[in-house]
Amino acid sequence: MTPEQFRRHGHEVVDWIADYWTRIGSFPVRSPVAPGDVREALPASAPEQGEPISAVLADLDRVVLPGVTHWQHPGFFGYFPANTSGPSVLGDLVSAGLGVQGMSWVTSPAATELEQHVLDWFAELLGLPESFRSTGTGGGVVQDSSSGANLVALLAALHRASGGATVRDGVRPEEYTVYVSAETHSSMEKAVRIAGLGTDAVRIVEVDGDLAMRPAALEARLVRDTARGLKPVLVCATVGTTSTTAIDPLAALGPICQRHGVWLHVDAAYAGVSAVAPELRELQAGVEWADSYTTDAHKWLLTGFDATLFWVADRAALTGALAILPEYLRNSATDAGAVVDYRDWQIELGRRFRALKLWFVLRWYGAEGLRAHVRSGVALAQELAAWAGADDRFEVATPHPLSLVCLRPRWPADVDADVATMTLLERLNDGGEVFLTHTTVRGQVVLRVAIGAPTTTRPHVQRAWALLCDGHDWLAADFAE
Ligand code: PLP
Repeated sequence: MTPEQFRRHGHEVVDWIADYWTRIGSFPVRSPVAPGDVREALPASAPEQGEPISAVLADLDRVVLPGVTHWQHPGFFGYFPANTSGPSVLGDLVSAGLGVQGMSWVTSPAATELEQHVLDWFAELLGLPESFRSTGTGGGVVQDSSSGANLVALLAALHRASGGATVRDGVRPEEYTVYVSAETHSSMEKAVRIAGLGTDAVRIVEVDGDLAMRPAALEARLVRDTARGLKPVLVCATVGTTSTTAIDPLAALGPICQRHGVWLHVDAAYAGVSAVAPELRELQAGVEWADSYTTDAHKWLLTGFDATLFWVADRAALTGALAILPEYLRNSATDAGAVVDYRDWQIELGRRFRALKLWFVLRWYGAEGLRAHVRSGVALAQELAAWAGADDRFEVATPHPLSLVCLRPRWPADVDADVATMTLLERLNDGGEVFLTHTTVRGQVVLRVAIGAPTTTRPHVQRAWALLCDGHDWLAADFAE
């Protein structure tokens, strides 16, 4: 494809995306296809001859779109949001067009330095500790996901705990312990497995009535494990758990971790970006105790996947765990210690120029635009919770400090509540106007309404609420027959 052909077809593709965004509200939010439908619409073998872009675009409409669940749809209330936006797509397009590989500073200095700078900007915008800045002892890096960030945090913590050894070199993994709660994201347990510690290493700390980790229970476990000769390595505290956005109390957990010499990792994958709004920072009071911190711009901050913002307070622990320098990557800037080589801050060697999309997003929206987006989601969630709280048909199941509301529908005593709630969920999702997901709270199924798609406005939340009420009435009438 020549640059001129690219220009022409690039315009067609951008038009296609803009048209998609314009008509997104007309699609059923959840893809209606059955397993195998998409593959059945594709030829068995790859094309022998090249095809025109127009044929590919036609197949986007014919094959791909029916098999897409529309995460940017204003009626998308499932899981957590996975925002994208015009500036994010354009920044990614530039990254793709430049096609650079930013594994080392020398392989494209701008890729490293823009990333350092944007991460410093975000650390300031989110009110994170000075130690996280590149000008301090730590620094930030874009990871592919918070799952990956949880893994590298654990590897850095292991490096520090073992005095610089690696798990496979001179230390006994069976002695190490890692502390989570039952509400911690499953990626932390996966990280423990990948790190070679085995699931026995995981200690599940008790939670309180709001599903937040209990500091006293953590301390008791640390004391007990240390007395047994075990080596506590990392505590994973979550700000905004996946299930219900419960918030582990960092200000109480931090001093405990420090007393026991344990790495405090804060997983704020969804909720951390809310700190762009200063009035929401109180939720993560105590963040200055954190050794590492992850939050996803690709969830709720108008940036497309993958854009995990990850910081450490001591970059030496991270690079100590991950740095490896084969001869073919040696260069004078690295040898002089004058630069950051991000390959030493992540699992993979190669890396895309992901800072570009974050830079585009920041420059297009400004901090005020990002605050407005977060505040809108929070305000809508509070309104929904108020409607539900005032309605006998629903109970607000958990605290809702951000933009997720967990609702437990009330059913007659002789009805299996979980089956009824799941039936209501399926009915809503089959309708195509909205998409919700579920979780369990204290053993009972609840509906999660996660607000935060960029196009969602008050009428969309009102409509979702009306559908919930109508669906409840319809099912209740059915049960009464
Ligand atoms: N941690 C928490 C608290 C999450 O809620 C999630 C996903 O929802 C993750 C980690 C995993 O995020 P990612 O998809 O970026 O790996």
